[in-house]
Amino acid sequence: MQALVLERKGELAIRDIDLPLEIGENDVKISIHTVGVCGSDVHYYTHGAIGPYVLKAPMVLGHEAAGTVTAVGAGVTNLKVGDRVCMEPGVPNLSSRATKLGIYNVDPDVTFWATPPVHGVLTPETVHPAAFTYKLPDNVSFAEGAMVEPFAIGMQAAARARISPGDVAVVIGCGPIGIMVALAALAGGCSRVFISDFSAPKLAIAAQYAGITPVNVGEKKLADVIAAETEGWGADIVFEASGSPKAYAGIFDLVRPGGALVMVGLPVEPVTFDVAGAISKEVRVETVFRYANIFDRALQLIASGKVDLKPLITGTYDFKDSIAAFERAASGDPSDVKLQILMEG
Ligand SMILES: [Zn+2]
Repeated sequence: MQALVLERKGELAIRDIDLPLEIGENDVKISIHTVGVCGSDVHYYTHGAIGPYVLKAPMVLGHEAAGTVTAVGAGVTNLKVGDRVCMEPGVPNLSSRATKLGIYNVDPDVTFWATPPVHGVLTPETVHPAAFTYKLPDNVSFAEGAMVEPFAIGMQAAARARISPGDVAVVIGCGPIGIMVALAALAGGCSRVFISDFSAPKLAIAAQYAGITPVNVGEKKLADVIAAETEGWGADIVFEASGSPKAYAGIFDLVRPGGALVMVGLPVEPVTFDVAGAISKEVRVETVFRYANIFDRALQLIASGKVDLKPLITGTYDFKDSIAAFERAASGDPSDVKLQILMEG
């Protein structure tokens, strides 16, 4: 079967590769329609590794996918042939302690598409457990279905934040995940979300949404803006979505007493963390790793019209041009949010 294969760091090929397609009793077979290009896919392409996950053998990329069910295992009752679906790329061990606790995102045994050595889905067909495959509502397109995976991270962050209606939030970092977090925070009840970055084009994309206020930290200090906007009190919730160790300098100046810091961005190196700054305000600190029990809720929000992810799709490529899509993503154009690849037209 044809696939987009990362042969080694810096080398992509569209070629035939053997991928298993037997359907187990509780699996579905899916004809892939749309796959989003994720920062992690691009990072494996440019660096060959993310933290402990090192590319040691050719791997198919892609984990943000939507498609159509073409076959179902004998035990599947929630899906049928012809259903339009999106898929959760991480499959935990269903008998693990983490899964039994409902926190299957932190199951050490999870297998996750396009995380070495597990193949992704930039290929025409895949087989996936029905339990991690979600039917798209009729008014949700394949393109939106393939956006559920990154949006789920934003929703997990909003859930971890335990937002109260009317909360004021700050999101540090206006990349794709920062924007997803801001949209999820608004959907989760925040009255206002300030989002900060050095990049004016990125901020302009976020600013098209009502309720999101961009703050260009190349021009003004974020702490000054938040103090001015909250009468010196601070934001109820600060989401760190840049992954930059520098973001942690003075971060507790942004949080109100008794507020929360939610850490979403993954720094590549250890971070200096102002413990006294956190303690003196009794700040609640939360972490976010992927998501659990979120996909169906994300689909409901998109279907309701409360969250519109379509403006974030800034380019669409045919599969035959997928290497060009990756080159564009790797070039880091700040006016790009999400590029998608069509497996079928
Ligand atoms: Zn992703």
